[in-house]
Amino acid sequence: MKYYSTNKKAPMATLEKAVVKGLAEDKGLYMPENIKPLPKEFFDNIDKMSFQEIAYTVADAFFGEDVDADALKKIVYDTLAFDCPVVPVCDNIYTLELFHGPTLAFKDVGARFMARLLQYFLKKENNGSEVNVLVATSGDTGSAVANGFLGVEGIKVYVLYPKGKVSPIQECQFTTLGRNITAIEVDGVFDDCQALVKTAFMDADLNAHMKLTSANSINVARFLPQAFYYFYAYAQMKKQGKADQMVMCVPSGNFGNICAALFGHRMGLPIKRFVAANNANDIFYNYLQTGEYHPQPSKATLANAMDVGDPSNFARIYDLYKGDHKVITSLISGATYKDEQIKETMRQCHAETGYVLDPHGACGYQALKDLLQPGEAGVFCETAHPAKFKEKVDDILSTDIAIPERLQAFMKGTKQSVAMSKDFADFKAFLMKQ
Ligand SMILES: *Cc1c(COP(=O)(O)O)cnc(C)c1O
Repeated sequence: MKYYSTNKKAPMATLEKAVVKGLAEDKGLYMPENIKPLPKEFFDNIDKMSFQEIAYTVADAFFGEDVDADALKKIVYDTLAFDCPVVPVCDNIYTLELFHGPTLAFKDVGARFMARLLQYFLKKENNGSEVNVLVATSGDTGSAVANGFLGVEGIKVYVLYPKGKVSPIQECQFTTLGRNITAIEVDGVFDDCQALVKTAFMDADLNAHMKLTSANSINVARFLPQAFYYFYAYAQMKKQGKADQMVMCVPSGNFGNICAALFGHRMGLPIKRFVAANNANDIFYNYLQTGEYHPQPSKATLANAMDVGDPSNFARIYDLYKGDHKVITSLISGATYKDEQIKETMRQCHAETGYVLDPHGACGYQALKDLLQPGEAGVFCETAHPAKFKEKVDDILSTDIAIPERLQAFMKGTKQSVAMSKDFADFKAFLMKQ
């Protein structure tokens, strides 16, 4: 399968090139040349299949031409060694809990899959070359990528994070690992970290010195595997006889996760419609209302993993529907919630149902409360375990929620990080010594 750039000014790429380079030469995002519909029998029998079986069928449609069947199966089975249950919350509203992975983040699947696929291609080349993954994080991406790539031979990971702006639980998930993972504590904000990474990708000296790639959701190997979730959610709803008018609601920031869901829909997944739930960063919401896309500087909110002012994957969604605003609005609705509303939703949901939402999931839950039509069944993604935001959640709900053992284990490790200014010259000098 070949991959084209959403900017249409770069040559077509192989899967290997798309994964190793991340971004096309014209700064566009790679898109698969065709998205194969899956046969009717697959959807008829999907409720009888396991998560791993479903995921392998989907993975084969995307990657089967370029990756040996045995290797692909191993990558899928290794990546999905945990469950993502659909849990009822209240009348006609269900949640797809995406937080049962190694760092309790839905990004675990994409990060692990990408690490394994990159390793597969490096081994195949067998020229001993090493790849360096740079990733800027406001919290969740860094921990998922660091853990996904931990111990993977031939790959080094540099996680850049803003000093004092990441929750202690998140910080320990990528600063205590060591081995092939280096945490870099930048004296600045998230946008400074992202600027350092972007400048590095364009720096000629650095690119001559080392092979650099990104593990953000611009990478096809990171965002596409998220499609697995939506097929599995459908399968679970079908098993309960609730899939006929299923609405999928995705709390969105960079729009990688919902974009993967839309790829699933293009493959024939019978989801009736989608809702993109935003926090106060309402760029996509405004696009749906007006047909105009105006990036904004990101606003800091309670749901900080969704604080994105210029979502990268908008380019993919736009391309998928050829920029047709009518088609996009007929399939996707939007919602936007300020912090006060998020808090109110968390309190109400907890009081009425007993379910503890995290601030990201709260946007999804509220969007279904506001937009679900009679006869529909809504499923929203719970994208983070509430314990990851324990201080905020306890404060809002007056609770003392338990920290899962897996998180506690990270908190026992020793923090190691490299202090860095936000000057590119310092970062470059550091990388040139590696
Ligand atoms: C990354 C993240 C999101 C947003 O996902 P996108 O793919 O960037 O839209 C939402 N919630 C949590 C907890 C996240 O970590």
